[in-house]
Amino acid sequence: MKKLLLAIFLIGFSVTNAQSFFCGNGNEPVSNFTNFTPPNFSYDADTKYVLNVRFHVVYENEQNPVIPNGVTVNGQQVFQFGEAEIMEILKDMNVIFNPHNIFFKYKGFDVSFNSNVSNGLQNGSTISSLGVSDNYAYNLYFVNYTYAGNAYATQGNTNAVFSFFTMSDMNRVQVLGHELGHCFNLLHVYNNFNTSDCEHVTRDVNSPLYNANFAGDSIHDTPAQDSNPWFINCVFNYDPNLTDCLGEPYVDVVPANYLGYDLHSTCGFHFTTGQVERMRTHLQNQPFQISLTFNTINSLYEPFETIPFGGNSIRSVTDNNDGTAEVCRNMLIKHRFQKSFDYVFTNVNPSDPSSASINDLPEIINTTYTFGVQINQVNPEIVNDVFVDCHREPFCQTEDFIKGLVVSTKVLGSMNLTLEELNEIQVKDPELFDKLMSEYYHIINKETETGAVNQTIIYKY
Ligand SMILES: [Zn+2]
Repeated sequence: MKKLLLAIFLIGFSVTNAQSFFCGNGNEPVSNFTNFTPPNFSYDADTKYVLNVRFHVVYENEQNPVIPNGVTVNGQQVFQFGEAEIMEILKDMNVIFNPHNIFFKYKGFDVSFNSNVSNGLQNGSTISSLGVSDNYAYNLYFVNYTYAGNAYATQGNTNAVFSFFTMSDMNRVQVLGHELGHCFNLLHVYNNFNTSDCEHVTRDVNSPLYNANFAGDSIHDTPAQDSNPWFINCVFNYDPNLTDCLGEPYVDVVPANYLGYDLHSTCGFHFTTGQVERMRTHLQNQPFQISLTFNTINSLYEPFETIPFGGNSIRSVTDNNDGTAEVCRNMLIKHRFQKSFDYVFTNVNPSDPSSASINDLPEIINTTYTFGVQINQVNPEIVNDVFVDCHREPFCQTEDFIKGLVVSTKVLGSMNLTLEELNEIQVKDPELFDKLMSEYYHIINKETETGAVNQTIIYKY
């Protein structure tokens, strides 16, 4: 019986997978937006908005931190979200929004465990119920199951929640555009289509029936439509029986709008000009909470992470007399740049990359001096400097001794030498000195796991 139930469940799940995702917003009250009045200040199309984004991965529990059934991201079936998967999501966000002068700056990700949140048992309308959030960033949550639909966003707000499944290759771009569109104040293109105050089909602004600027999604250039329009070869299939609430048949509906549900990805997912204006107007308005998430254009040129590490040049090797050594090297800094952009790196060490594409996660490692970064998506004519401090402390770390060599002689300079190789146990032996021959000179070479050598020359009386 148990086996049969499982089989039925899996079939049901896979059918759901094959269809579109369902946005939880459809279930939420949107009354505060039905009387949307466009702001009357001048619209600015050129300002570049850079928004911080932080990702939160919520698994069911620590003992079993996996995504049920897995998700296909970038062609790989994965059961956990790590940096590789998060960067793929970040890249898609930038690819979708960069053409509209909206950029996302990576601010990292965290992993937490909460079965209520991850399994959609907790009402997600209050962000505090989702756990950690960053006031200075857009917060994207990934969970097993959302409490409404497969993904949802708080309209005009800085949070969005996604089931892991919606981040599969099949759905990711559409769902990110859709939910972030909600975050940027967009409504569904079919909003209120089945109510008596629906958006009317007419686009004649002089018609007494015209209401496109305040009904439906309150955007003129998204045609009135129902939630499930039908297209053939990317062309709307006119049906005299599919009408608005006045009985006027729908016309000129365009497939693959991010704020619709149809999956005609081959027709090109898109926002209309009116939708882009609405989103940018929302950002331009800078409600307090949103202005906190703003970053500078310069921040895009900065690495998201810098990691100091030791280079090949050893400065000192100090025996800690406990089987380990303090090994100090020249310090190098790994500069890690987020996925999303076509970069050109100038004035870098020849062994570092001079360019990278949107699918790369470039690292500038060997450059010890200030170098330049150019981002084609931001401005192909501008190169920004990344300052690298060349006056550095050495990079020191504790390393285990793994082998050694003792060269012993009665007389310094003599060719009469005794050589004794030391294995890992011998080189760490605290009684090594006691075991050396008396009235001899000894050159003791101790080598660490990375090949750093500590040499001591002693005369034992
Ligand atoms: Zn939605």
